[in-house]
Amino acid sequence: MKGTCKLCANEREIRKSHIIPDFHYGPLYDGAHRLNVLPSDGRHTRIPTGYYERLLCDDCEEKFSRWETYYKRILFDGGLDYHSSSERHMTLKGADVATVYLYHLSVLWRMSISRLPIFGAVSLGDFHEAEIRRLLLAEDGSRPEAYPVTLTAVLVDGEARPGWIHSPDWVRDGDGRRCYRFVLSGIAYHVLVSRDQSSLHSDLWRKTGDRITIFVEDVMNVPFLRDSLRNVAANLNRPKRR
Ligand SMILES: [Zn+2]
Repeated sequence: MKGTCKLCANEREIRKSHIIPDFHYGPLYDGAHRLNVLPSDGRHTRIPTGYYERLLCDDCEEKFSRWETYYKRILFDGGLDYHSSSERHMTLKGADVATVYLYHLSVLWRMSISRLPIFGAVSLGDFHEAEIRRLLLAEDGSRPEAYPVTLTAVLVDGEARPGWIHSPDWVRDGDGRRCYRFVLSGIAYHVLVSRDQSSLHSDLWRKTGDRITIFVEDVMNVPFLRDSLRNVAANLNRPKRR
């Protein structure tokens, strides 16, 4: 189908794109190839496939797919070793931080331009949508402090849950800035989106150079996920209406 690519704005054949890249879904498909997802309101739904939308031309799709492949390789396929210096965090050394950053920006941007209801909470607004599009087009991941991303591996009953996806929502941080949060492959992402860069704890990435820190936290210490799990449990235990 011909149309305008959302990234490069060229008139091209437009492909169906995953909003959340395919590899995050892997362990989630049930036997009938339906997807188990936990939406923010805790209702447990099953959806026949991942979330697709016609967004990008082949070239732009290929660009995103390169970043995805890299991220998947270093995080899930043993491309880099984890170093644990404490029980509270792990470090990936030797990572191409710019590529990982661009990958995360591309996911957030896709959620924002998506018209699918499950991503409705993500609305970057004209300024940040245009700015992030500019960075993605230029493949400029040189300033990860511009939109700081925090990664937290969430443990449930002491174990990582690589099959866990949680749809996005947002809160304001202590300085009134917007922070988007979602879970992909059992990792909670917090992305700060603001023009106000004062007093950011953003040197997490900048100072560590080729290292990516992943915090480790029990779900009971992550209030929005703890509450969501409780909602799911309450809904599952509710007697079915006849
Ligand atoms: Zn394009």
